[in-house]
Amino acid sequence: MTRLPAALLALATLAVAAPASAHCLDQENFAIIVHGGTSSGKAYPERLGFIENMLAKRRAELMAGDRAIDIVERAIVEMEDSGLFNAGRAAITNSEGFVELDASIMDGRTLDAGAVASQLTLKNPIRAARLVMDGTRHVMMVGDRGEAAVISLGAETVEPGEYFLKAKPKEHPKEHGTVGAAVLDRCGDLAAGTSTGGYDSKIPGRVGDSPIIGAGSYAKNGVMAASSTGHGEYFIRHTALRTIAARMEYGGAALDTAARKTLREMRAAGRDASDGGTDGRGGVIAVDAEGNFSFAHSYAGMIHGMTDHGTKPRASQLGSKVE
Ligand code: ASP
Repeated sequence: MTRLPAALLALATLAVAAPASAHCLDQENFAIIVHGGTSSGKAYPERLGFIENMLAKRRAELMAGDRAIDIVERAIVEMEDSGLFNAGRAAITNSEGFVELDASIMDGRTLDAGAVASQLTLKNPIRAARLVMDGTRHVMMVGDRGEAAVISLGAETVEPGEYFLKAKPKEHPKEHGTVGAAVLDRCGDLAAGTSTGGYDSKIPGRVGDSPIIGAGSYAKNGVMAASSTGHGEYFIRHTALRTIAARMEYGGAALDTAARKTLREMRAAGRDASDGGTDGRGGVIAVDAEGNFSFAHSYAGMIHGMTDHGTKPRASQLGSKVE
């Protein structure tokens, strides 16, 4: 095999993979879809207004050529900081009354990914996940040692007692306001991310699907980008997002068909389970390589918002179940 001189090799690599921060205006199509969790039985008008405003900013940035991975991070940072969702500032507590935060991010261009789990003092877990992706050769950092590592990479911390808005588990018995974003940019690149305080009344130390690649977040160029919300244990068991991608890649399924089928299977498994049949439910927001959306859900009340090159930002709380 002929060996390329190092300088030439570097040039060849650059030509294949432009730096993620570079702007890109290759195509007209772009799209972003986000969720603010699945909140059964309660209306959250303030979350919808917030999402529409946040999406208007992301739309302008995407139009200007900003990259999918950066848009995902910015969207989720704003949602974490808003104090409106079960992520970052307003994260719910575990059964012992303190917050443990999980997040993940994935770049569909390279399949690079970063995640943090069981974090106690991080201001923006999604930013920490990005630091893991960009600054280490690992995918996931957990617990206090993981927290020390991401702090050394530049993650911002807070005083838990002063920063987080909610402290009593009983105040939010059915709160599922996890946040997530899936983006197609004008390069045709896909990215996704998710951030959460986790499932209500979780046992300290429990980690859900949100920081798990293929369950909570997944992105692969040419296929789809997605984020999930709902009963995390089922998303993990069914590797839900990777299953959706596989149905598209190997079975030729359309995004929404693949997402609905996967959620139906999870719901059926939940109905059969010994825990009373109320589980295995959740929702997925996703966008494919052409900019088609899915917001398949098996819970009433999923909060979602979207915008693309031809559609103004709009957010809604989905009333009907897809089962
Ligand atoms: N999926 C999250 C978890 O299980 C919770 C949620 O989305 O509401 O941790």
